Amino acid sequence: MEIEKPGKQHLHQLKQLCNDAGIKLTHQRLEIFRELMSVSDHPSAELIHKRLHKRLPTIAIDTVYRTLTTFDELGLVKKLHIMNERTLFDTNVTIHHHFICSHCKKVTDIYWSDLDNSKLPEMVEGMGKIQSRHLEIHGVCNDCLHKSEE
Ligand SMILES: [Zn+2]
Ligand SMILES: [Zn+2]
Repeated sequence: MEIEKPGKQHLHQLKQLCNDAGIKLTHQRLEIFRELMSVSDHPSAELIHKRLHKRLPTIAIDTVYRTLTTFDELGLVKKLHIMNERTLFDTNVTIHHHFICSHCKKVTDIYWSDLDNSKLPEMVEGMGKIQSRHLEIHGVCNDCLHKSEE
């Protein structure tokens, strides 16, 4: 039995959303979705591609990337651009923020309702319509801190 993680989408949601959007649920898309939901919380397209390769040896990285982008548009995952260097796909679509270890690059979810409910600075509100807010906290995680002490 898999542990339920917050904000994760399920197969029936994928079917429903594809149906509503008029997108064909191909075998490849289904397999990408399955893999996506079984890996760590913030996989890259490369990781999904690598893991799928055994079962779908002909699948191209472009296909994986495009499919993940489609899933992002459907709201099944969130595309993250961390520090402008990597594109990751977040399988948790509830509101949350991230702690990013600058050493091992691990991305950990943070929940921060005070921040989510806080009033934005006036200068931000004057800039236009706000659609979402996402905070990245950068630092060195405990695992890496302890390793460097050894
Ligand atoms: Zn680390
Ligand atoms: Zn996340």
